Amino acid sequence: MYTDSEGKKWWKGNVHMHTTRSDGRAEPEAACKGYLEAGYDFIALTDHWKQSEEDSYQGMLMIPGVELDTMTDGCWHIVGLGMQRPIALQRDEGGKRIHLPAQTLIDGIREAGGLAILAHPAWSLEQPADIVKLTGLAGTEIYNSVSGYPYSSRADSSVILDLASVLGLRLPYLAVDDTHFYREEPYRGFIYVQADECTAPAIVEAIREGRFYASQGPRIYKDYFENGEYVVKVDQAVSVVFYSATYYQRDTTQVGDKEGLKEARFRLKASDHFVRAMVTDSLGRHAWTSPRDVRLEDIIKI
Ligand SMILES: [Zn+2]
Ligand SMILES: [Zn+2]
Repeated sequence: MYTDSEGKKWWKGNVHMHTTRSDGRAEPEAACKGYLEAGYDFIALTDHWKQSEEDSYQGMLMIPGVELDTMTDGCWHIVGLGMQRPIALQRDEGGKRIHLPAQTLIDGIREAGGLAILAHPAWSLEQPADIVKLTGLAGTEIYNSVSGYPYSSRADSSVILDLASVLGLRLPYLAVDDTHFYREEPYRGFIYVQADECTAPAIVEAIREGRFYASQGPRIYKDYFENGEYVVKVDQAVSVVFYSATYYQRDTTQVGDKEGLKEARFRLKASDHFVRAMVTDSLGRHAWTSPRDVRLEDIIKI
């Protein structure tokens, strides 16, 4: 947890991980111990089709979690967080695997009081036109550690999500480990969530309201529109790169001097439609803002 200059608290969490309850290699206790010792404030155990309940491990919060998957119209994995009751969906019927539409998985999570998160769109080779058809998602992963090297080398879903953003998608972005304890994936992607306290209702509500950002280490203090610009306040970044719906433009990359960047600004254009930023620190680690809708009143200098 850190406190920002306005006194707001930001809690660090990994909300996608597996244990021996499904295909992970660590027992739940060992998985929790690892994240506690790595300084996390909260986690969610999201074993495949095995819903976990609210709990705590030596003071580290555990919010309810699960991961559902289907092979209908492509490959879809949906993480559920903060459910208040069991999800009324079955993976098998009469000993046979059934594949429900992705939308049914999302609806099932929401009916159980949970938040539905689109998992690893790059690993699943999700088509942007299919992603935008889904309704009721609370967010999508932009970074999924276990999908990276040496497993699939598709940890980063940003290009697929930019294509979906061009089509109108506006979802908050998460970074997660999707930990299986295979090799190097733990402790590489997480979210910082802004909430007054680290309780399940407060964390889940903050995620529902989009009060979080994805990171591997760098901190993003604020992002907002001001005088026709998109402004990102950061902590000693080496660079900040801006992405929008405009495919050719200058000034998309800002590089800091020896002291590092504390703030980066991007002049908005009529063709932008959406804007987001990726922050990089001296260790090559990233943090990502979520895409923001760019409206005419944000572009016009007041
Ligand atoms: Zn998955
Ligand atoms: Zn997973």
